[in-house]
Amino acid sequence: MAFIKDYTDLPDFLIFSICVIFDDFLVQCTSISEVRYLLMESHLMLSQYKLATFLACQRRFQLRYLRHLPWPNVPLSARTEANLHRGQEFHQLLERHFLGLPIASAAIVDAQIGQWWRQFEANWPFGNDFSANVRFLPETGLTVPLGDHLLYGRFDLLVMGKDKENIPFAHIFDWKTGKPVDEAALNGRWQTRLYLALLAEGGSAFLPQNSQLIPEKISLTYWYVQAADTPITIDYSTAKHKRSWAELRKHAAHLTEATAKDSWPLTDDLAHCRECVYQSYCDRREAGMVHPERLNKIELVEAEEATLLNEQLLTPELP
Ligand code: SF4
Repeated sequence: MAFIKDYTDLPDFLIFSICVIFDDFLVQCTSISEVRYLLMESHLMLSQYKLATFLACQRRFQLRYLRHLPWPNVPLSARTEANLHRGQEFHQLLERHFLGLPIASAAIVDAQIGQWWRQFEANWPFGNDFSANVRFLPETGLTVPLGDHLLYGRFDLLVMGKDKENIPFAHIFDWKTGKPVDEAALNGRWQTRLYLALLAEGGSAFLPQNSQLIPEKISLTYWYVQAADTPITIDYSTAKHKRSWAELRKHAAHLTEATAKDSWPLTDDLAHCRECVYQSYCDRREAGMVHPERLNKIELVEAEEATLLNEQLLTPELP
């Protein structure tokens, strides 16, 4: 397995595409559309949401991602819609900030977003650990091979640098506008495990040639606007990575087997069926149904993720 940097001739900006060599063929990145075509033809792109779906119910994974059956769109309440919109706006605000664009606090129209921004300014979550010699890479995607498939994720902010001993480190930041979650729960989330594993496997691609990013130098910080002065940082290690990667590979092999056999069993856990719109396909209507807004939130997350997929292969050129 190896990574290839390939620069295309897209206008005004260079593209850093992370491609992979599999056992028997080389994916050569000559154009974004070609890469996308090859990926669609040969492999499944797995995100935290797709992986979680596969583990919750294989039949749902098949219906949702292979047969592409629609997930009905239920109207959100005005309050929920406004909160979702604010969350997106705040992420865009921080993206602009880390791209180096000036943010005028007084020019932020929405009072809630203005308050979040002031919280951020007052509680700069980076401590004193980061020297001036770091790179801030907002909204950065990474894709790595996982068995017969590809694993991808996008970080709100990736900070790359070197520590006092001149060893490369990588630190992911994830901005949260919802209710804070405790560290134990965050540790168990697929987002945490997948992001850290992604960087351990593929993060060296962001470094100069012959530099290696080791798991002990990878961290992930969740920063909640509602707990702005107490960010939660989760460190990684080689031992953790071995466990996580072995588990991810096991799930990928399971998915390969399910695809080969075209075998997609129904979950035994009716709690999953209660938030699933495919009940009529499975004769599981007796499970009941959660509030429609919960379904719509799942849809919104997945719709957003689908729009991000194209960006996973477009990462700003690194010096
Ligand atoms: S209704 Fe239940 S068994 Fe059917 S796809 Fe949904 S979660 Fe799976």
